[in-house]
Amino acid sequence: MFYAVKHSFTNEQFPTFAVMKAIVATLNAKYIHTSLALRWLYVANKDRLDIRFREFTIKEETEKITDELLATGCDVICLSVYIWNVERTGEIIRWLKQCNPRLFIIIGGPEVTYEPAHFLQEWPVDYVISGEGEFVLGDLIEALAKGETTLPPGVSSRDHISQTVCQADITRLAQLPSPYQLEEDREELKNRLVYVETSRGCPYQCQYCLSSREKGVRYFPMDYVLDNLKYLIEAGARQIKFLDRTFNLNKEHTRAIFEFLIDHYREGLSCQFEVYADLLTDEMIDWLNERLPTGYFRFEIGIQSTYEPTNRAIKRQQDFPLLAHNIRRLMAGGKVVLHLDLIAGLPYETFDRFVQSFNEVFALEGEEVQLGFLKMLRGTNLRRDADRYGYQYAAHAPYEIVANDAISATELHRIHEAEHALEKYWNSGRFKATMRKLFSDYYPGRYFQLFDELGQYYEENHLPHRGYLLEDLFRHLHHFLLSKGIDLYDALRTDYYSNFTQRPRGYWMQTIDKKERKKLLYAIGQDKEFLLRHRLTRRIIEKQTAIDPLDQQRYLLTIFPAEGEKTARREVIYHRKSFAFSAFFTFADQE
Ligand code: SF4
Repeated sequence: MFYAVKHSFTNEQFPTFAVMKAIVATLNAKYIHTSLALRWLYVANKDRLDIRFREFTIKEETEKITDELLATGCDVICLSVYIWNVERTGEIIRWLKQCNPRLFIIIGGPEVTYEPAHFLQEWPVDYVISGEGEFVLGDLIEALAKGETTLPPGVSSRDHISQTVCQADITRLAQLPSPYQLEEDREELKNRLVYVETSRGCPYQCQYCLSSREKGVRYFPMDYVLDNLKYLIEAGARQIKFLDRTFNLNKEHTRAIFEFLIDHYREGLSCQFEVYADLLTDEMIDWLNERLPTGYFRFEIGIQSTYEPTNRAIKRQQDFPLLAHNIRRLMAGGKVVLHLDLIAGLPYETFDRFVQSFNEVFALEGEEVQLGFLKMLRGTNLRRDADRYGYQYAAHAPYEIVANDAISATELHRIHEAEHALEKYWNSGRFKATMRKLFSDYYPGRYFQLFDELGQYYEENHLPHRGYLLEDLFRHLHHFLLSKGIDLYDALRTDYYSNFTQRPRGYWMQTIDKKERKKLLYAIGQDKEFLLRHRLTRRIIEKQTAIDPLDQQRYLLTIFPAEGEKTARREVIYHRKSFAFSAFFTFADQE
């Protein structure tokens, strides 16, 4: 059905083209990301339109992007708008229209889907597509080329705001040339994150999430999914991220894909899924723990809050005891990498209650705990109900909250500082030995307190959150711990060396002067008896060994593998019996 709505073409714009040349483009957050949406728009329309797609990143300059788009000589530019690129996309559109007012500009994507009127008013765009635009885009461009005065459903213009949010027919999508198998992507597959969707939609109602506005869950045919996965694995993809909102919603669907991926496991490939942990069964967990190659799957599990009144307010169904039980069983299996998500700033969650949520989630020991801050996304029910909870939030994307009735701006700022510390010292995975020791001996069960104190230490000492060296992180943590009367130098040293596969050039603390280090290693390299006993050579000592004094008499040698060698790093302790560089050296080792 088409709506009979007059277009408001300007004189210059009034179409005289038989065939319109179109380009679909977006700005990805990083180069490694790929836009599946662009590829869908392209494959759905390439046989009916003169259409190409082009990806940029938000780091690229506006002028460079607009020059490149204008140089294509296209008549229509379609831009996919997301929360991470909305501000930049607005700039680009203004510039494009200034340079060429004849251009038709169409926008789509989650950021604009539920508020087309806002973008038509604020940006010089011609049309907004709400929802899944694969087929609607072709209909719209064809209508423009013919000068028709009707708009397909789901398309808004200044004269007409559509109430429809399009859903593409999945069966029809599956019959198109595959967006995963484009020849132009083949070369780069191994260097980029490949996004795959096996379903669309989410049955849940989380009030802060745009997916809660979609109706129902639609699945791609299984043979279609498996055929594309086979292609990607064989073509050398290294990271596949499944975009399904809740991947494990349907047991048979989940099991079939997991089984296929395990049967087609290839070293160097990893797969990420968004998983609802309450829905995992004991049988599925046992099966994964038994069959899965270690580190092959990474599950992102949104917990958000463990406070029931908060979960009720945001309509998030969650059985935390069951979820915790499932996560512990997965952790015990040691096969799946777990990434647990929390959100600060949800309704009714005070600072103290947030700390409890954090500690309860952290106790599950996920490899990563991602602490996000609530964002009031356009089109969500929580944004609509913001006043009810006293929300103050940023007017510009990403619309992060500043405060609400339960939590103040100062408290949120403090959580932000703790989050920086969490990222550096836990999620980076660079401080495993130190963190283990800290949480077992000094901060048992008080996980948030450590990151909170570290965050405040960074703030008080004006330490940077960006542009630091690895050595700075170690030094700052060491000094922070000393300020608390905690000396974990040995654990920090172990962690530091764990960050390297080969002997590092430097160190984070001046324990031994460069010249002295060289002389010591040279002297050890002369000790034939010692070398023989430890199956070492002079070269290994001089080129692959780091040396650290343990006390007046002993040195710790950390021996790294040679380049390309797959052996583990090892440590040997030397006991110095007598020592004088100018005379001769006598070492006895003590293991
Ligand atoms: S947060 Fe996840 S589960 Fe909740 S509505 Fe959004 S996609 Fe669905």
